[in-house]
Amino acid sequence: MPLKLDDEVLQINDKTFEIFIRKEEIQAEIASLAARLEADYAGKEIVFIAVLNGAFMFAADLMKQFRSPCEITFVKVSSYKGMNSSGRVDEVIGLNTEIKDKHVIIVEDIVDTGITMEKLFTLLSVEKPASLEIVTLLHKPEAFKGTHTPTYIGFSIPNKFVVGYGLDYDELGRNTEHIYQLKGETR
Ligand code: 5GP
Repeated sequence: MPLKLDDEVLQINDKTFEIFIRKEEIQAEIASLAARLEADYAGKEIVFIAVLNGAFMFAADLMKQFRSPCEITFVKVSSYKGMNSSGRVDEVIGLNTEIKDKHVIIVEDIVDTGITMEKLFTLLSVEKPASLEIVTLLHKPEAFKGTHTPTYIGFSIPNKFVVGYGLDYDELGRNTEHIYQLKGETR
């Protein structure tokens, strides 16, 4: 069996994970992020852009707690070998919402090195939104190589691998309510 789920311990293939952030802590943090966003964006035309696959659960819970009118849409970021000088081409897949002159908030599960976030900023800026910010549930400051720290951060965590609540290990483990880390690692 590739995946064993008994709440306290998560076994995925060869790895054992234990609870790192409990569901109650996650939900409390999301409530305060939603309240901050509501206050900061009062009266503005907002589009949330959630980045699949990892952010699906965070986006759903954040939207349930965010009470002001808003649009929500989902994208994927892909990077493939192209013909340009750098050899790589990045694109945002699935953006079928007009974002020009709207206030855009990117919803991420985790900002690690920040490379994904920087790509999104560059690609979405071309569409001329009124503003562009990021809300991320998790941030690893030690791994971060970007220039702008995300404005809205749920939890700053050490540079260790986490899984659950949308985040995967070998595509498994996304369907949990807690966030887990490798057993034996300290917080
Ligand atoms: P970046 O390094 O560009 O900030 O993050 C790239 C992607 O790596 C994230 O969107 C996420 O999918 C994945 N990632 C980074 N750190 C972790 C982690 O600790 N666990 C899991 N499951 N994925 C991670």
